[in-house]
Amino acid sequence: MIVRPRAWLLSSLLIVGGLVGTILLPYPKSRLAPGALVSLRLTDRNGVLLREVLSESGGRSRWVTLSEVSPDVIKATLAAEDRNFFLHRGLHLPSVVRALWQNARQGRVVSGASTLSQQVVRNIEPRPRTLGAKLREAWLAIRLERSVPKEEILTQYLNRVPYGNQAFGIEAAARLYFRKPASDLSLAEAAFLAALPRSPSQSNPYHDPAPALRRQRETIAAMRRLGLVRPDEADRALAEPLAIRPPSESFRAPHFTTAFLSRLTEKERASLAEIQTTLDAPLQEKVEALVRGHLERLARSGVRNAAVVVLDNAGGDILAWAGSRDYFDAGASGQVDGVLSARQPGSALKPFTYALALEAGMTAATLIDDAPAEFAAAGGPYRPENYDRRYHGRVRLRSALACSYNVSAVATLDVVGVERLYRQLRDLGMDSLSEPPGFYGAGLTLGNGEVTLLELARAYMALARGGTFMPERFTLASFDHERREGALPSPPAPKRAFSAATAFIITDILADADARVPAFGYGSPLNLPFPCAAKTGTSKDYRDNWTVGYTTDYTVGIWVGNFDGRPMENVSGITGCGPLFRDVMLLLHRERRPAAFTLPEGLVRRTVCATTGDLASAACPARVEELFIAGTEPLLVCDRQGDAQEARLADRPAGRAPHRPSAAPPGPRILFPEDGAVFQVDPVLRAEYQKIRCRASLDGLDDFRVLEWYIDESRAGATPGGTWVWNLQPGSYTIRAVAVTGRGRVAGPPVRVTVLGP
Ligand SMILES: [Zn+2]
Repeated sequence: MIVRPRAWLLSSLLIVGGLVGTILLPYPKSRLAPGALVSLRLTDRNGVLLREVLSESGGRSRWVTLSEVSPDVIKATLAAEDRNFFLHRGLHLPSVVRALWQNARQGRVVSGASTLSQQVVRNIEPRPRTLGAKLREAWLAIRLERSVPKEEILTQYLNRVPYGNQAFGIEAAARLYFRKPASDLSLAEAAFLAALPRSPSQSNPYHDPAPALRRQRETIAAMRRLGLVRPDEADRALAEPLAIRPPSESFRAPHFTTAFLSRLTEKERASLAEIQTTLDAPLQEKVEALVRGHLERLARSGVRNAAVVVLDNAGGDILAWAGSRDYFDAGASGQVDGVLSARQPGSALKPFTYALALEAGMTAATLIDDAPAEFAAAGGPYRPENYDRRYHGRVRLRSALACSYNVSAVATLDVVGVERLYRQLRDLGMDSLSEPPGFYGAGLTLGNGEVTLLELARAYMALARGGTFMPERFTLASFDHERREGALPSPPAPKRAFSAATAFIITDILADADARVPAFGYGSPLNLPFPCAAKTGTSKDYRDNWTVGYTTDYTVGIWVGNFDGRPMENVSGITGCGPLFRDVMLLLHRERRPAAFTLPEGLVRRTVCATTGDLASAACPARVEELFIAGTEPLLVCDRQGDAQEARLADRPAGRAPHRPSAAPPGPRILFPEDGAVFQVDPVLRAEYQKIRCRASLDGLDDFRVLEWYIDESRAGATPGGTWVWNLQPGSYTIRAVAVTGRGRVAGPPVRVTVLGP
């Protein structure tokens, strides 16, 4: 069919005419109404102000008229954003043409210079930046210009645009950055603020003031060029030092409050005036100080950041939340929140594999092969290796978990099944594991999937709570603008993730200082003077380092690493996070020691053979007490000849004899220096002469071979006898001697010394 030209022309004209006609429609004035004054206060659990959100998106802070704004603000805004404002009718045609040309060349919407009118329209109805949205914006801007005077558009602009850091409108911005009303701003301050709305996040002065200051100078120069200020005024403004006020006075627990605000719905933000969060502000400050202190200690290992979260087990309250060393340190990406960053947790997921194993009928005394093996995996056969690159033979489940052996963990997962572990981790709130289970395969138990510190702490809290899972809680109460208690969604009811008996056995293993000795030695920072369960984890290539643990009262999660993924040097879960974990736990329990974990019903104790896991006989050289879920305790009595077993295993190179007596064997005792000794570096002597000769007693050590010397967990030397020369460097150190014998390695008690600088 042939389209008749006249009909086509007529319909085109009608469509174009109709579109043009809509421009004559007035802009709906109701959209310009300033809303109620809205500011949202977040307090800690005792009412201490953490943060006041001066306004929120879509909301307004303090609506001001043009007469309440310094004239310099208006001039600077025109110079920075729209110098033809009083000439155009909503659109600046040369800018439109330029933007269209750039769009055509780049094939996408690049930011064209928008007029103030366009920006007002965009702030009232934000839309994704598509070409269609741009056209709609232009259409609305023209209608706005036809409906209200220029002064009203300027007022709308100054009250609506974001100046960064949740400050919407010039009044909120003036009060945030300079602690003064917008009427009192100087020319220099006005130019500074006027240049912020273009890219409030990129030129955030709290992260790096340089870009914002550069734009301020450009704005002042433009004001002078346009004749808006006299040259001498401009010179004075350029010379004026700006006192940008820090946000910290009303911006405590910045990562926590930011995370919380991002969870609120628009409606909640608009209707609530005050929210009492669960945070404990004094505790938060102390935790932040501990983070800074420990990062100084770790700086020489290339560690630049850390994160801590503290949960109250009773109600899941978040008591402390430090997302980085310093939120306001842009150089170290301080605003990145280490509590919410998904990273590989390494061994920190192993307890959940073993919990499932217990529920599947294995016991803490079940022997698991820790030997070279291949496991089927999606990406081909998988051969796990241990952290110490050795295999440990058949080990009891308790030792396998406490010593964090990788091969045993994968062997156990083989029994449990990847799908079951995956489903359990998801049920425990690890939403970051978003791929299907086959994607992770057997490596899931070794922590190859990425999870957040908050997710880890949340899951461990279920163990601390005797097996019931409950997500963490951010708030205690909320109030609307009339101080009426508001309604926030109530937290979901706790649900059972493990039986109380399973949770108790896992807790008992994670709190067992003796059981982790073969892998981690004596004097671990995880050994606290009260019952405390803890597990460490290290991701591949030493990029991330975790310790998560709990007492009956609190669950604490710690991450240490670098936001840019740079690996750390010689940092293990024990040396990296362990001391910080220890200090946070000691801080939490400074006034009140935690209760012991309560033994639930349905558990029985039996004495078993440490080698076979069977009921101990009189011939077994090493016996241990073990806990069993009633009905799973061993029924057979060990019939292995202990001596034969010893003889066979004694030849294993550097292997630890599994028949380990439950009391610590006599280790090499350091005779010099004495515990608590203080040395001073001599300012006169050359450094190479500043040495001491350390001495240790080797009495009672059978088949002694070599003595290893450890300074702060790292091996500093090995000697064939009991003496070793140590170069003094200022600092505090823990010295430990470990004897390598034909029957394994034996550590002696540590000695702490202090070396003072010259
Ligand atoms: Zn035995």
